[in-house]
Amino acid sequence: MTAPVPIFGAVADAEPDLFAAEQHALEQARRAAAHEHNHQCALRELVAHYERLLRESRRLVQRSDRAERQMNQLNARLQEMATQLEYRATHDPLTGALNRGAVIEHARSCLLLHDIVLVVLDIDFFKQVNDTYGHPAGDTVIQAVVACLTEMVEGQAFIGRVGGEEFSVVWPGLNQVQGLALGERLRQAIANTEWPAPITAPVTASVGVSWSARGSTFEQAYFRADQALYRAKRSGRNCVRMAD
Ligand code: GH3
Ligand code: MG
Ligand code: MG
Repeated sequence: MTAPVPIFGAVADAEPDLFAAEQHALEQARRAAAHEHNHQCALRELVAHYERLLRESRRLVQRSDRAERQMNQLNARLQEMATQLEYRATHDPLTGALNRGAVIEHARSCLLLHDIVLVVLDIDFFKQVNDTYGHPAGDTVIQAVVACLTEMVEGQAFIGRVGGEEFSVVWPGLNQVQGLALGERLRQAIANTEWPAPITAPVTASVGVSWSARGSTFEQAYFRADQALYRAKRSGRNCVRMAD
């Protein structure tokens, strides 16, 4: 059997504590000090975290600014490339004139709203130009023909290279008489061009013209101008024929 545990201090516990109030104040002060210490620690920790947060935020803002700048640069480059692609998809690289597809598209859009005159020009005996002066000289002639047509239309019509040495001019709003006169002016301008060396002989073009009323199809307009061009070739070249 275990001995009973003696009860100590029963008499002392019964005595009132003379310094109870001081003891209480002391306890409170200790608790306040302890609390203040906790607050200081928490505050220090908060400051440390807040400073780290600021540093990280600044770093992130800088990084996001950098990313935004890069994104803006990429966007600008993308826009530039899209413009270049659009240009390449619609223009002939040798002359800068519209390519066949773009001519068809533009002419179709025009025909929805206007009557149009379509002029089709084909360089005469161009194979001989290549054979006599060489292919690069032939290229120069093609470029010069487009430059000549561009100067003649003064921005009022659009010019396309629809084949190797075949070009088209679409002029909205002209009537048949004006169309024929335009064909003649273009023919003369080409015939009177001074070609750069080594080309010494004159270069001419045959011209077919069609007039089409608003709402016609591009196919009809082109077929008729092409037929007229064929007649111009058959008539001895360097001349203009108008579609019926
Ligand atoms: P026609 O009067 O009947 O039109 O005779 P042509 O010799 O002009 O016609 P043909 O169709 O026999 O020859 C056209 C030539 O155009 C053949 C081709 O080599 C040349 N050609 C086509 N595209 C180019 C090009 O981009 N550059 C050069 N230099 N020649 C080209
Ligand atoms: Mg030809
Ligand atoms: Mg041809």
